[in-house]
Amino acid sequence: MSGSLLVDNIGELVTNGAGEGPLGIRRNAAVLVEEGRVVWVGPSAYAPAADHHVDAGGAAVLPGFVDSHAHLVFAGDRAAEFAARMAGQPYTGGGIRTTVGATRAATDDELRATVRRLRGEALRQGTTTMEIKSGYGLTVADEARSLRIAAETSTETTFLGAHVVPAEYADRPDDYVGLVCGPMLAAAAPYAKWIDVFCERGAFDVDHARAILACGRAAGLGVRLHANQLGPGPGVQLGVELDAASVDHCTHLSDADVAALADTAHSDGSGTRTVATLLPGAEFSTRSPYPDARRLLDAGVTVALATDCNPGSSYTSSMPFCVALAVREMRMTPAEAVWAATAGGARALRRDDIGVLTPGARADLVVLDAPSYLHLAYRPGVPLIRQVIRNGALQ
Ligand SMILES: [Zn+2]
Repeated sequence: MSGSLLVDNIGELVTNGAGEGPLGIRRNAAVLVEEGRVVWVGPSAYAPAADHHVDAGGAAVLPGFVDSHAHLVFAGDRAAEFAARMAGQPYTGGGIRTTVGATRAATDDELRATVRRLRGEALRQGTTTMEIKSGYGLTVADEARSLRIAAETSTETTFLGAHVVPAEYADRPDDYVGLVCGPMLAAAAPYAKWIDVFCERGAFDVDHARAILACGRAAGLGVRLHANQLGPGPGVQLGVELDAASVDHCTHLSDADVAALADTAHSDGSGTRTVATLLPGAEFSTRSPYPDARRLLDAGVTVALATDCNPGSSYTSSMPFCVALAVREMRMTPAEAVWAATAGGARALRRDDIGVLTPGARADLVVLDAPSYLHLAYRPGVPLIRQVIRNGALQ
């Protein structure tokens, strides 16, 4: 579709910019899009003419969701493991190795088909930006191909060679760290924007995590990490030390962890440089206690919500589901949750062109089948995404 696009008759527009309340809401609004960008936001009655037209019919429109944490390059599923967990077995992270075996055995086309299927599923649920991690190959060739395939679908790609120590390195983790920092990073870096480490008991300790993240940063990758999911630990403070864009999970935090995140606050009051990304789909799917979002928000820490879409611990691609969980189970207000799922995700990716609907932003919009963003939490499990516009194009 070429030419300009006008979305008008918007009953409630979430801009995450200037407007009413924390979501910058404008009523009876319109958005004009040209060449993939928002070029005008204003009252519907004064909207300029355009080549194409979408009548929102009084519905709510918000920025497309920014899912800043997903693991889409894998093969197989772990439904039986999920069933066993629901019958009482604890989650340990050890099941990652099951997926590693299936992923190594898969063809490129099989992996590509899974990425596209899940990316399409997320898009239909309003996700217009989706970060994609490697981490189920754990050989030089399999990590490189995972990222090559991820990069076909997203510019937000993350090298997670340090997901777990693969079985063949079980008794020599130092050697595996050497492989990750050496040939694996060299092969992965051309396709990756970020580096990530699963810093947790049973995965990588703080010294290994620091070494791997430092190598990635030296290779030009941005830093993010999985931290404090299964228990307390040094991951969050390591993330702050290394200027991570985001520390993800944050389920078990000490006062010092919260203070360290709060200390990364920008001087202009726009939030923290290191974002706490909460992944309530993981707690839901592992029947674990949820992170304390209120404690982070009350300390001034910027919070993002993401799906953690993966076959083991959170096999959902639905940002609306995560919004509903955050409101119901983590005591976030609906406005806080919607902000975290849009602008918060953008901050976690250090992007200012997405997660907002203001002139200059990328034209990523979601038209709801509802009069207000409140319905995302109020009507859980209901398909409320009527239309998705990505990069200015109707999907
Ligand atoms: Zn994850």
